[in-house]
Amino acid sequence: MLQTEVLIIGSGIAGATAALRLARNPRRQITLITRASDPHESNTRYAQGGIVGRSPADDAETLVRDILVAGAGASSPEAARILADEGPALLKEILIEGVGVPFDRDENGEMNWGNEAAHTNRRILHVGDETGRAIAVALIEALRQCPNVHLQTDSTAVDLITYPHHSRDPLCAYEPIICHGAYVFDRKERTVHRHLASTTVLATGGLGRIYRVTTNPMGSRGDGVAMAHRAGARIINAEYVQFHPTALATPGAEGFLISEAVRGEGGILLTPDGEPFMAQYAPERKDLAPRDIVARAIHDQLETHGYSHVLLDLATRMPADEIRSRFPNIYATCMEVGIDITRDPIPVVPAAHYFCGWVWVDEHGRSSIQNLYAIGEVSCTGLHGANRLASTSLLEGLVWGNRTAERIEAELQEGMLPGPPPWDDIPRWDESGLVVETDPALIYGDLQTIQSLMWHYVGLVRSGDRLSRAIRELRHMWNEIETFYRATKLSDGLIGLRNAVEVALIVAQAARHNHQSRGCHFRQDTFTSQGGRLI
Ligand SMILES: Cc1cc2nc3c(=O)[nH]c(=O)nc-3n(C[C@H](O)[C@H](O)[C@H](O)COP(=O)(O)OP(=O)(O)OC[C@H]3O[C@@H](n4cnc5c(N)ncnc54)[C@H](O)[C@@H]3O)c2cc1C
Repeated sequence: MLQTEVLIIGSGIAGATAALRLARNPRRQITLITRASDPHESNTRYAQGGIVGRSPADDAETLVRDILVAGAGASSPEAARILADEGPALLKEILIEGVGVPFDRDENGEMNWGNEAAHTNRRILHVGDETGRAIAVALIEALRQCPNVHLQTDSTAVDLITYPHHSRDPLCAYEPIICHGAYVFDRKERTVHRHLASTTVLATGGLGRIYRVTTNPMGSRGDGVAMAHRAGARIINAEYVQFHPTALATPGAEGFLISEAVRGEGGILLTPDGEPFMAQYAPERKDLAPRDIVARAIHDQLETHGYSHVLLDLATRMPADEIRSRFPNIYATCMEVGIDITRDPIPVVPAAHYFCGWVWVDEHGRSSIQNLYAIGEVSCTGLHGANRLASTSLLEGLVWGNRTAERIEAELQEGMLPGPPPWDDIPRWDESGLVVETDPALIYGDLQTIQSLMWHYVGLVRSGDRLSRAIRELRHMWNEIETFYRATKLSDGLIGLRNAVEVALIVAQAARHNHQSRGCHFRQDTFTSQGGRLI
């Protein structure tokens, strides 16, 4: 059993920011865990395009308006206002002046502001096309300098410890649900520890890996949402899965993101025959229309004409040396698979990318469970509504990471948090009698089935029939996997599989429940009668 004041699960931009802000008080004891062996490994690490700041030509009102328009009428105006008011100043204070992220500057030393789809102004700060890597490196380095932050890798949270669920006292059943930490699987020792904490913060990121084609790395499988759901937290907007329009469609590099900044810098989409097509779908903004519209337009082209991909042309729109210096990572990765983006168009398809909904939180990151906060992609502040505006998620992690830390600090100072429960009241993790070792083939096979079901039936274009079919099959798999889980020794893969099927069901059920097409949730069976936007 381990005890800490604040347990933060996840070391991406949200978790790292919260830890860094809490660590300013030297009396605080913070434990930051990640399932990965490398603390940089996260969705944050792969972010390319950049993070929204405030360029001289920009103002908070315009950013709020852009967020609300992209969100298709479902973004919370309050959340958008918080982000627009606080975000740019925090970016400067924490990322630029605090941890020294080397954002690109022009020859005069001024910030080099980038553009992306659905933004009115050039307002995006970037570090080449590896912005996320630069942010992750700077934040983790800063955390390593904090003596009161214990950074623990190879540690997979399995479940939250909540009362009354884990209490032996029957009278706890009449109390509100309260979180006291988490059961954490040590991947090296292969044992589960009880991590008790006064406050727990979920910062576990997204779940792109429940889809067959995704831009997300391996660990993005919805662990935090599944844990929160099992504990009884309120989950909202789960149907709003954002598909990025342009992921590389070349064997060996499937899912590699071709940043929206490529279209922001002039790149245009073409059919395989070289014809531009976005004007048919979005006459005004064309290739710079919101993500949901561009992704569905590409999907429509693929379905209607049987294409395996469409093309994204930057070569004829930007000089070769500028392409190489603005997009070095995209250039190098495409070269590895035989595509020279300074000469050739890039074959692309849409891919599952970002989750706009999930664990409901208030303006301070508080979930519906006492002492449980959620920040970053695992949370739903309402900011992204039904469709996220590009480059706002890193900023959301920063803003709510900071707000949550401030709230926790205030609660700890005011003594508002209940003390830990009696140690012996929390049951040890019991694996006695389990002899079956995890079978990797079963885990891999089941995960592939889930990914395929989600891709075909709960994808970019949905219908009641497809969703019902997905739910029936996912329920069957949930039963099988739960039985397998209860009989098998724990592993990180097994934890992920159990969570993946749980969150896949949550997405499919939310999508079936919501008949109204909006933003990235598109129901072809009810679209005409409900008047959603797009094609
Ligand atoms: C390819 C790509 C490009 C992107 N580009 C941009 C961009 O340009 N601009 C932008 O704003 N957004 C971008 N995004 C989205 C953005 O990167 C993410 O939304 C954001 O980084 C999420 O941050 P986070 O801190 O919430 O989660 P993450 O950065 O994903 O961190 C999650 C952490 O939780 C840990 N974790 C997960 N499960 C467990 C568990 N069970 N136990 C312990 N630890 C666990 C992980 O190991 C990791 O440390 C991009 C995303 C991708 C995938």
